[in-house]
Amino acid sequence: MTDLWRLVGTLTWASVVDIALVTLVFTLILLLIRGTRAVQLLRGVTLIVLVVLSLTSVVELPAFGWLIDKTIPALLLAIPIIFQPELRRAFERLGQAGSLFRGFREEEQGALISSIAQACQRMSERRHGALVVLERDTGLQEYVDTGTPLESLLSRELLETIFFPNTELHDGAAIVRDGRVVAAACVLPLSAGRIHSDERHLGLRHRAALGISEVSDAIVVVVSEETGQISVTHNGRMIRRLDALRLETILRAFFQPRFRRDWLRWMPTLLRRSSKATAKES
Ligand code: ATP
Ligand code: MG
Repeated sequence: MTDLWRLVGTLTWASVVDIALVTLVFTLILLLIRGTRAVQLLRGVTLIVLVVLSLTSVVELPAFGWLIDKTIPALLLAIPIIFQPELRRAFERLGQAGSLFRGFREEEQGALISSIAQACQRMSERRHGALVVLERDTGLQEYVDTGTPLESLLSRELLETIFFPNTELHDGAAIVRDGRVVAAACVLPLSAGRIHSDERHLGLRHRAALGISEVSDAIVVVVSEETGQISVTHNGRMIRRLDALRLETILRAFFQPRFRRDWLRWMPTLLRRSSKATAKES
């Protein structure tokens, strides 16, 4: 106890600021990588470091110590390479590239969401396949560039026309930004994640929807050509078997006004997400 008081006594303003800065950096890093695959890696690395530290402090292990000394710098170099998509996403989130329906009032945004839901319902009834990417904070320009530029106001009719079978634009994804379909027939990255056993049968359209949601914060709506099923992907996860009403509810929840979303995203969400990730892993 006296040691603790002596320690507190040696604290200066500079050291308090020092500690606060380090805390801030670690908090920011944790907030940035939350909900991504990097969390699992961080957990693994922390465990290994703890085990190694306790081993080397108890017994003298010169050869093992040498190995650790040599491999840690290599690991530090490898981590940014392995997690390049996650890191990029984190920095883009900091930069806030753009957002869906920017400058739209809440009821206008609601009307746009209804158009998407109605178009999907009708395409699902007719078994017309569709892939609609709703851009949020992460910029998707590199995928927009793979398609045909449109820059057209979003409407139910436009979406149904784009995905009408055997037309020029139906193959690939339509990307929506600021209430406009900026491009159609875009090529998306395929999912790199582990496909769960109940998702093995997924075709390319659904894997592309998962793929773009892994490398960005976009919300993706998929209509299956084979089954007519409507699904939504977000953050590498897929919500399936939706009807127009549920699709609309989900989209509204994702696109509720930013200030509300940001508050909801704060600490409680962080805790909830990591427990969900653990449940999904096991
Ligand atoms: P469905 O249930 O509609 O059949 P699926 O998930 O089984 O979908 P496929 O049958 O393989 O997928 O669908 C192929 C279609 O998916 C292609 O015609 C194309 O429009 C679209 N697609 C495939 N790969 C990509 C990609 N990388 N980016 C965008 N669209 C893609
Ligand atoms: Mg198929």
